[in-house]
Amino acid sequence: MTNASAPAYPHLLASLDLGPVTLPNRMIMGAMHTRLETLDRPAERMAAFYAARARGGIGLILSGGYAPHPDGRMDPETGVIDSGHDLSVHRAVCQAVHEAGGLIALQVLHAGRYAKVPGCVSPSAGQARINRYAPRVPDTQEVWDIVADHARAAELAQEAGYDGIEIMGSEGYLINEFTSPRTNDRADEFGGSLEGRLRLPAEIVRRVRRRVGPAFLLIYRISAMDLVEDGLTGAEITELARRVQAAGADVINTGVGWHESAVPTIAASVPRAAWAFAARRVKSAVTIPVIASNRINDPDVAEALLAGGTADLVSMARPLLADPDFARKVRDGRPEEISTCIACNQACLDRIFTDRTASCMVNPRAGRELDFIAALPVVRKRIGVVGAGPAGLAFALTAAERGHTVTLYDAAEEIGGQWNMAKAVPGKAEFSQAIRYYEVRLRQLSIDLRLGKPADASQLAAENYDEVIVATGVTPRTPDIPGIGHPSVVSYTDILTGRVTAGRKVAIIGAGGIGFDVAEYLTGDPRTALDPAAFLHEWGVAGPGSGTRGDLRAPAPPPPAARGVTMFQRRPERMGRTLGKSTGWILRSRLRKAGVEEVTGACYDAIDDQGLHYTVNGQAHVHPCDTIVICAGQESDRALHDDLSALGIPARLVGGADVAAELDAVAAIDQATRLAITI
Ligand code: NAP
Ligand code: SF4
Repeated sequence: MTNASAPAYPHLLASLDLGPVTLPNRMIMGAMHTRLETLDRPAERMAAFYAARARGGIGLILSGGYAPHPDGRMDPETGVIDSGHDLSVHRAVCQAVHEAGGLIALQVLHAGRYAKVPGCVSPSAGQARINRYAPRVPDTQEVWDIVADHARAAELAQEAGYDGIEIMGSEGYLINEFTSPRTNDRADEFGGSLEGRLRLPAEIVRRVRRRVGPAFLLIYRISAMDLVEDGLTGAEITELARRVQAAGADVINTGVGWHESAVPTIAASVPRAAWAFAARRVKSAVTIPVIASNRINDPDVAEALLAGGTADLVSMARPLLADPDFARKVRDGRPEEISTCIACNQACLDRIFTDRTASCMVNPRAGRELDFIAALPVVRKRIGVVGAGPAGLAFALTAAERGHTVTLYDAAEEIGGQWNMAKAVPGKAEFSQAIRYYEVRLRQLSIDLRLGKPADASQLAAENYDEVIVATGVTPRTPDIPGIGHPSVVSYTDILTGRVTAGRKVAIIGAGGIGFDVAEYLTGDPRTALDPAAFLHEWGVAGPGSGTRGDLRAPAPPPPAARGVTMFQRRPERMGRTLGKSTGWILRSRLRKAGVEEVTGACYDAIDDQGLHYTVNGQAHVHPCDTIVICAGQESDRALHDDLSALGIPARLVGGADVAAELDAVAAIDQATRLAITI
């Protein structure tokens, strides 16, 4: 990341005249489904959410998707923009964004066969494997009605005060389903030939333009790569881009992959800007501006994309959850202060995919702007915070921002706690950005950082703090297995910190998030998540000139395994059920390819020189191995809290020190931040 003394970002900060509107810079907040509309006070919440991003200086906001017809809703609770729904939420959002000096366009999204509603529609019969509802096939007149629905949605968006719309034509939703031979075997004018398959998007853009006139921004989001079998070829995609321009679009945004693609597109294991070539291919076909998207979370990466001619604008969705002031910090030459989206998906997509509302791990205020309004402290306090992991860092930063004087202790030589182990796992290097953000902010706020020595109760007592916060985290659980003290047994902390190198045959006891992380650490290649060419090769993505359908080719055969790894769990159920919905499948797929074996329903009998003795279904086995890694969860580390209590010093627990079960950084940061605004 560029430091403050480096040159500014001339391409990112250049204004752009799009005709109907002039953008102050080239940074766009991409559309993202948040489900904020399902909370109480939806209009107020959404207005506050988007207005915060507008104040943060983003050039243009694209709203979450609204369906032009109830059949196209993502799920029964999400929004529809048609004549049966009032526009008050939209009016509130537009007014708030405009008052904050921003611009906002509404995304119109017909979910097609991905709509989780009975009566969802698709160009042809065939249920998506990710939807339990089978679609029905509209007749030709009904398809023309869908064109009309989009035009009406655009007109209503204009009436509500939006500056434009984005028509969602990617990610495997309805329009994308019409363009692709995978899901379109229609014989009428909306199928059959390429001409027929491209008719729906062209007609929608034409009809919308006619309805809203020239002074309303019209963005079309194209599927720049389908990444599914029988998807569009590169030549068909560029032809579609030309037709969309000819039909009246002002700008083309680019999406990558369908939701059912077997290729990861936005997880942290995808290298930054890995899909630049797909945007470049679209740009080569048109003269209107093109937006690059997906895994762009850093201003240097974004600037390089624009400077290199890949695109004219960059879209960032999750990075604007992580930091609403991203654009302002770029503009003010403070990029090192950006709270970087680490692409974990834990508080955003994983929640959306499980029918909850989105927020952000590194910014719990996202989507909760109304709940995080801190009163200025009446009395400035001296606060001692023990533990510089996610909870301690979040508390210390928020408290210092509010004016308190904070001293932060950690026994380790560096801040970050468990994040320092996470960042060592292949595909999780982005966690180091969260640590970098805190390092910068702690320094700026003059937080007194005392590292490398455990804080003890008597020392804290001598300091006579007004408040003591105990964020001492967790200690790994040691299961009660005969022979647990055998020299082959190590903790996950030994492995992930590099203190111990595992042997060639490894057993992992425990298959939660950390067991999977350890398996990935022991078998994965950290370079794949950093090198786009290696990533595309591994996942079977063809180059831009290949001409294959869906831009796919056979995935690379896995390299010979460095070691044999077997994961064990006691529960009989399938492994990995607790992993995040948006990333668990990637990890499982990678480990399968790496030959990692799984044993479920295991009862651990003993550990000795022969290896791990266990029983499954009453049958005794021995797993010979050099190393046994214990990943059996954690217990709260409350030793300091107990010592403080013994001295009569009240202290508050946050993070894993408070609740270790289901500990994760999302809950820890949220809890610590909420506490810090009340103290
Ligand atoms: P965890 O998810 O609670 O998993 C602990 C594992 O240990 C389970 O597989 C459990 O399975 C086993 N176990 C529990 N008690 C045991 C005992 N006494 N003896 C033997 N096995 C035992 O904990 P974690 O893996 O340490 O993860 C901690 C937290 O970090 C979790 O909240 C997790 O979600 C989060 N995390 C998330 C990710 C991610 O991918 N998003 C990555 C890393 C960590 P059985 O009881 O069936 O044996
Ligand atoms: Fe990014 Fe993770 Fe926040 Fe989602 S939860 S916006 S992926 S940092």
